[in-house]
Amino acid sequence: MNEIRYPVNDCYTCVQGEGVQTGVAMVLLRLHGCEVGCPWCDTKETWEFHPENEVTSLDEALGANSKYCWETAETIADYIAQHHPGPKWVLITGGEPARYPLRPLVQALQARHYKVALETSGTETGHLDAPFDWVCVSPKLNMPGGKTVHLETLAHANEIKYVVGKSADIDRLDELLAQVHLQPDTWICLQPVSQSQKATRLCLEIVQQRGWRLSLQTHKYLGVQ
Ligand code: SF4
Repeated sequence: MNEIRYPVNDCYTCVQGEGVQTGVAMVLLRLHGCEVGCPWCDTKETWEFHPENEVTSLDEALGANSKYCWETAETIADYIAQHHPGPKWVLITGGEPARYPLRPLVQALQARHYKVALETSGTETGHLDAPFDWVCVSPKLNMPGGKTVHLETLAHANEIKYVVGKSADIDRLDELLAQVHLQPDTWICLQPVSQSQKATRLCLEIVQQRGWRLSLQTHKYLGVQ
């Protein structure tokens, strides 16, 4: 049987800057590849696979660049346990990590006593059978890549973190949420796009009206990764 391999783009210890888990120390594991095409994406280097960027060791791949290395769940989990023993959590993000079947990776990390969180756009379903400890779906609607958000990803989310630029974005979110039955304890977080003041005022207004939650990209205010 072929063992699943995952394209690792980056891996480092940080403090979660966004959403409900803001402030929690985490190992950020970034998988390569995304077809969503958000114009304001701050990891565009992860979008495409170019053969000249494929490398053969994790140490070569890591860093904010377009390099990636295909590794098994066991190798990735061993690497993290050896190099990042401090945090209790690993956050699997991308790119769009749910393009890949994530169950083996989650189980390998949990076997090394990490809790495992996911950040996904909701446009892929490779996480739905994986025993994640926390799932944040950040639905990306009407993006240039033409990918649609799968409603079942929202139904299984612990957190929905939605990026807002203008009031039409709130209308789109309302249309989406009207089609799905969320778990009663799912958090809905609004995050102003690119720290825009106008978007921040709009998010503040809506979260107070609806009893939702504000998500700020605190790592950008702090100037850390
Ligand atoms: S889904 Fe995430 S990685 Fe993909 S384009 Fe959008 S912000 Fe970037």
